[in-house]
Amino acid sequence: MTLSEVLSNLVSDRFYEMVFLHEKRKNKMKIVMLGAPGAGKGTQAKMIAEKYTIPHISTGDIFRANIKEGTPLGLEAKSYMDQGKLVPDELTVKILLDRVAKDDCRNGYVLDGFPRTIPQANVLKEALEKQNDKIDYAINVDVPDENIVRRMSGRRACVTCGATYHIEHVPPKKEGICDKCGSELILRDDDKPETVLNRLKIYHDQTQPLIDFYSNEGILKEVDGTIDVKDVFENITKILG
Ligand code: ADP
Ligand code: ADP
Ligand code: ZN
Repeated sequence: MTLSEVLSNLVSDRFYEMVFLHEKRKNKMKIVMLGAPGAGKGTQAKMIAEKYTIPHISTGDIFRANIKEGTPLGLEAKSYMDQGKLVPDELTVKILLDRVAKDDCRNGYVLDGFPRTIPQANVLKEALEKQNDKIDYAINVDVPDENIVRRMSGRRACVTCGATYHIEHVPPKKEGICDKCGSELILRDDDKPETVLNRLKIYHDQTQPLIDFYSNEGILKEVDGTIDVKDVFENITKILG
């Protein structure tokens, strides 16, 4: 083999390695956030989306946007959400699969609030398997029930852009006003204590089993969600690399 052949082999090997690693990395960024309502899934998902330049997909945000626009989907979802119940799987799964089929999801995404039931997780798994694909990480943000009701009653959400704050832990610069877009901040109807208790019960019955589901898939990662927002995020970035 001539020197130039050796060199060209080296270059192409390095080239293929770079492409391969890049592809591998791209495919490694399909993330599911698990955790009770109010655990901080949305807060962390937004930070992950920004750092890794992947879309943040929240089924709750999609439903709320539809409610605001008065679409038929919004009307149907509202009747469940107001009572703290889950929107039926059939409806939710369709919305989610349509969303992840969009072009911006090719390099991955972070799912916040989906799946919330074992059937939802199975549908997602099967849909990905058909494309030789899978979820890479399921991150469980762990916060005990005792902390949840207090967290939710302090949560404030922007009516326009969906940004979330907390009156004590994550306050906006100006009380009642969104830092990002200047709109009004509200306490969501379903964040009132009586609805939160209902949502927590449904979480334990229907969503918590997903921790075992993803543990069996070998991709479950646990983080303590009771510490500072930035410390939770630091622990997540240690996992994601
Ligand atoms: P939180 O962030 O507090 O957990 P979300 O914004 O994720 O709340 O969800 C608000 C409501 O939207 C839920 O209580 C439920 O009614 C509905 N919802 C959101 N995602 C799903 C889902 N994957 N399956 C069924 N219902 C959902
Ligand atoms: P989820 O999406 O799991 O329902 P959010 O991200 O909306 O939860 O967080 C719920 C509330 O708790 C919000 O008011 C948020 O600002 C606040 N919060 C989020 N993470 C933390 C944290 N680590 N410590 C204290 N408060 C937090
Ligand atoms: Zn806003």
